Amino acid sequence: MLIVLKQTATEADAELVKKKIADTGLKPLYLPGEEKVVLGAIGDERKIAKLELQSLDFVERVVPVLKPYKLCNREFKSEKAIVKVRNVEIGGNEVTQIAGPCSVESEEQIVSTAHAVKKAGAKILRGGAYKPRTSPYAFQGLEEEGLKLLELAREETGLPIVTEIVSEYHIDVVGKTADMFQIGARNAQNFRLLKAVGGTKTPVLLKRGPASSMSEFLMAAEYIISEGNPNVVLCERGIKSFFTETRNTFDLSVIPLLQKETYLPVIGDPSHGTGVRDLVSPMGCAAIAAGADGIIVEVHPEPEKALSDGFQQLTPPQYEEMTKKMAAVAKAVGRTSASLEL
Ligand code: PEP
Ligand code: MN
Repeated sequence: MLIVLKQTATEADAELVKKKIADTGLKPLYLPGEEKVVLGAIGDERKIAKLELQSLDFVERVVPVLKPYKLCNREFKSEKAIVKVRNVEIGGNEVTQIAGPCSVESEEQIVSTAHAVKKAGAKILRGGAYKPRTSPYAFQGLEEEGLKLLELAREETGLPIVTEIVSEYHIDVVGKTADMFQIGARNAQNFRLLKAVGGTKTPVLLKRGPASSMSEFLMAAEYIISEGNPNVVLCERGIKSFFTETRNTFDLSVIPLLQKETYLPVIGDPSHGTGVRDLVSPMGCAAIAAGADGIIVEVHPEPEKALSDGFQQLTPPQYEEMTKKMAAVAKAVGRTSASLEL
């Protein structure tokens, strides 16, 4: 149940409603918007209905939310959220570019890539220090050494960092470096991990599970928000299908659908979405046309030598070319996107 307070409502009014909700044994939620405060009560809606909160003169309306995802529902908060990663915004008019290697491999590799993607228009640097791999024998990441190299790349370029966290036991170690946590597709329903990042204030890039329905994807976001961290960005990265010519099936249709269902920013990952280097640029452009708020791309100075996902990583010149195309598409759909030319 959502309780929308009038613009004139005071903090004491909000506290009173929270207390009434708590007294029924339900968990009150507080999410202040730009204009109005909205309170939520999660649990048996009949108990809340009995409180007759609509009769309070500072309550504008009481709205039942029938969908299972409540806190990330657009009915909860009609204005779109902007998630800030240091000084970079995701969810505004600009389509935010995020780029970097799949894995952090060496100082030279991460620093040179950071400079190259920054020059091409990227605003956030990606790079995995902890790598969840399908095979236990594959490269698992440089771990703490990788985090140090990411910090170095940030010092050199000023780009904030998004990096993956694979376990709730890494909250402190990864949290010290990350400006944004990435929850990978394989961990999309690792509820303890979702709760752990939900207990921080660090923004979270939540990837869609390879077999997650839209509702399951949003319920994963709900786990993070319900722990008190509203700074969630959703990422479509491809799902499993019968179509095996690409690594995954990049589900473009979920992007505008999510934009309708939730106020959270939605970005696209055409690198994992396709797993085919030549398809990354066209599908990144397509994701912008479909309404994505950002695009995350894997870029490596020498993809043929990469320790992970070499086959889908772009070279810096290929990425630069891609950002020019993305900027043109962004312009066509009324958005902006940084590239060398603009
Ligand atoms: C990655 O970003 O390198 C990665 C492992 O992505 P995903 O979790 O989407 O497979
Ligand atoms: Mn990868």
